[in-house]
Amino acid sequence: MKVLIRGAGVAGLTLAHELATRGADVTVVEKRREIAGNASWQAGGMLAPWCERESAEEAVLALGRGAADWWDAALPGHVCRRGTLVLAPARDAGELDRFGRRTSRFRQLDACEIATLEPALAGRFGRGLFFAGEAHLDPRKALLALRDKLLGVGVRIEFGHRSGYADVEVDCTGIADRRSELRGVRGEMLVLQTAEISLARPVRLLHPRVPVYVVPRSANLFMVGATMIECDAAGPITARSTMELLGAAYALHPAFGEAELVETGVGVRPAFADNLPRVERDGRNIRINGLYRHGFLLAPAMAGQAADMILGNPAAKEFALEAHR
Ligand SMILES: Cc1cc2nc3c(=O)[nH]c(=O)nc-3n(C[C@H](O)[C@H](O)[C@H](O)COP(=O)(O)OP(=O)(O)OC[C@H]3O[C@@H](n4cnc5c(N)ncnc54)[C@H](O)[C@@H]3O)c2cc1C
Repeated sequence: MKVLIRGAGVAGLTLAHELATRGADVTVVEKRREIAGNASWQAGGMLAPWCERESAEEAVLALGRGAADWWDAALPGHVCRRGTLVLAPARDAGELDRFGRRTSRFRQLDACEIATLEPALAGRFGRGLFFAGEAHLDPRKALLALRDKLLGVGVRIEFGHRSGYADVEVDCTGIADRRSELRGVRGEMLVLQTAEISLARPVRLLHPRVPVYVVPRSANLFMVGATMIECDAAGPITARSTMELLGAAYALHPAFGEAELVETGVGVRPAFADNLPRVERDGRNIRINGLYRHGFLLAPAMAGQAADMILGNPAAKEFALEAHR
């Protein structure tokens, strides 16, 4: 079975992995010149299904709870399972209660327990929520490692042009897919670098207007994200968003005020009206899209569904045989 996947974001590469593992002959075509710069490249890499339930449907939790295991199996050593810490400044303590009412599988922490988990935050917050079952990865390292692994098992990855015949074509082009009611949700982020503070896990700082998260990466880097703006413009980050993200990072710890601002970035999240992802099929064309703010969390489940549709479903086999005749 020859499968052509358009788009080398997290949707396309996870599907390529799923199909190659099951024996398909896979080609990925990416219109950019490299695996960088798309929405997946800008992501925080949080695998946080219980926290995301605060604003997402139950389906996101159901589809996402296996994501850390999938990534761990696909890319051993990339997943960091240290949970998520959720905090709020004293004046916004009500936000913690609201967050807790909408989520599950967390433990309430007092100031001492916060200091034990994250010594750099000692004395700064009186209460927090700890989601011990959550994980994160560095999305850029994961995408590049996935690319290398795929190349190693014979998947072709072609940049800048479209390949030839395939039995099945899968569109994983994210916000570039204009055939449907997809909308863009702009996400702006920063990368700060400082050796003055270290964090072991993603920290979410709640705020009624500007909730942010800080995700630690190697080399003293911290990804700070992200705005959620209903618009599909991919232009540079605005001054306002920069100020708000920096202000929130500074509120988490003043050491971020002295950090180097080494990168700003913008990604446009592809979303359907219900903010849930879809795997759709029309004859020999399949589409995975609408990963919204959950690409790393939900792509493994979506890839599994699409691979079943392509390889495991009798109807899919039938149309593949017809295509060969
Ligand atoms: C700031 C930010 C933070 C985020 N944080 C998280 C997080 O912590 N955890 C999480 O799970 N999710 C997170 N997300 C969401 C996640 O990044 C997206 O859901 C995900 O990247 C969408 O992946 P995709 O593969 O559908 O799209 P993309 O990553 O945009 O990939 C689509 C690819 O298709 C290519 N393409 C377009 N047209 C064509 C064509 N005609 N032919 C070939 N190729 C084409 C594009 O160049 C692109 O490379 C975040 C998003 C943003 C913006």
